[in-house]
Amino acid sequence: MTDWVSLDQQYILPTYNRLPIAIAEARGNTLTDTEGNSYLDLFTGLAVNVLGHSHPKVLAALHEQGEQFLHVSNKFLNPPAIELARRLVENSIQGQVFFSNSGAEATEAAVKLVHKWTQAEGKGKHGFIVMRKSFHGRTLGAVRLTRQPGVYQDFPQPDYPVYEVEPNDIDALRELCERERPAAILAEPILGSGGVQPLSTAYLQEIERLCQEKGILCCMDEIQTGIGRTGHLFAYQHAGIQPDLILFAKGVGGGLPLGGIIAGERTAHLFKPGDHGTTFAPSPLSAALGNAVLQVLLEDGGLEEGRRNAEHLWTRLSQLKEKYPSLVQAIRGQGMMIGIHTSLAPKEASQLQQTLLTDGFLVDIAQQTVIRLLPPLTLTPQETDRFTNHLAKRLAEIATKGGTTP
Ligand SMILES: *Cc1c(COP(=O)(O)O)cnc(C)c1O
Repeated sequence: MTDWVSLDQQYILPTYNRLPIAIAEARGNTLTDTEGNSYLDLFTGLAVNVLGHSHPKVLAALHEQGEQFLHVSNKFLNPPAIELARRLVENSIQGQVFFSNSGAEATEAAVKLVHKWTQAEGKGKHGFIVMRKSFHGRTLGAVRLTRQPGVYQDFPQPDYPVYEVEPNDIDALRELCERERPAAILAEPILGSGGVQPLSTAYLQEIERLCQEKGILCCMDEIQTGIGRTGHLFAYQHAGIQPDLILFAKGVGGGLPLGGIIAGERTAHLFKPGDHGTTFAPSPLSAALGNAVLQVLLEDGGLEEGRRNAEHLWTRLSQLKEKYPSLVQAIRGQGMMIGIHTSLAPKEASQLQQTLLTDGFLVDIAQQTVIRLLPPLTLTPQETDRFTNHLAKRLAEIATKGGTTP
């Protein structure tokens, strides 16, 4: 049998610590590896496969568009992309879309657009307010806005100012907006790789209020929280606010690379031909899949189904927290974006992740001790029970023996 672990180590640069499984097939919410083991997918390729794998509508779009054409230049009209942009705008803010291939590229587009605004209308404002432990991508422009040690390093960087604030500290945010003249506030409604930390409704509303009062651009990074993951198409919608700029990616291409920004009325007029662009995005194939995903979510009841499935998962996880208060400190997040904040040591948390993998459950760890769940909206109550019953068993072992026994 092919030794994928050794070949990976030989030929692929080690920018990730990889789990030692090679996926051969993915159907519904189950992954199967090359050795025939199967796993319940509670990670969805880092918040990408919102409808699980092999969703019939997504596969139908894949075949249909695949037979028509795979690529056209941005110098032609691109009907699947136009349709997708219309769907995104009609379900978020008045504005227009720029498509990219990835999340980091969405951030880059936002940085350039905010810069254009700064020059044209910003009245001396400059730079971004971002949250401590934020994640906005790894390209040179985006990494400057990503406030995580290990990701943010001394790579060469553009020199616009970046102000870091403590998430949910309203006074600190107000004080900074009094003292400095930032052009934009950029925030993930729920910090993802920062440890699944939700911004409170009051804090999000204060961001909107300050932006209006001071003439700052309100920018929401919905790359992980968007496309139905939290129960609305975008997570900011829970707080009833109106951002000026929305960043999206991950789930939007139905598994294919796609991202972008929705620029609201304050900025949509600023990009002119030549100001920004890319060869590939929006891939008509990714856009066709995106249309299928949005149809399922918005027209076929996918969002409601996701909310119901998430509610069941939250009920079960709250029961776990009550049963093991010394191990589970808090369950945070919203919908199908969940952090189980544990009191485990980093080594124990990673051991638990390994054990769960051997048991057939794929979960992630964020900020070393948070079990991060990014399940598909299609996770059934039966699948949830299978996972939570199993997790309960493993937590019981840790509580009594101080460790799991694979
Ligand atoms: C994943 C992510 C990004 C970066 O997206 P890539 O496609 O990996 O470049 C940016 N912001 C947030 C909130 C993310 O979760």
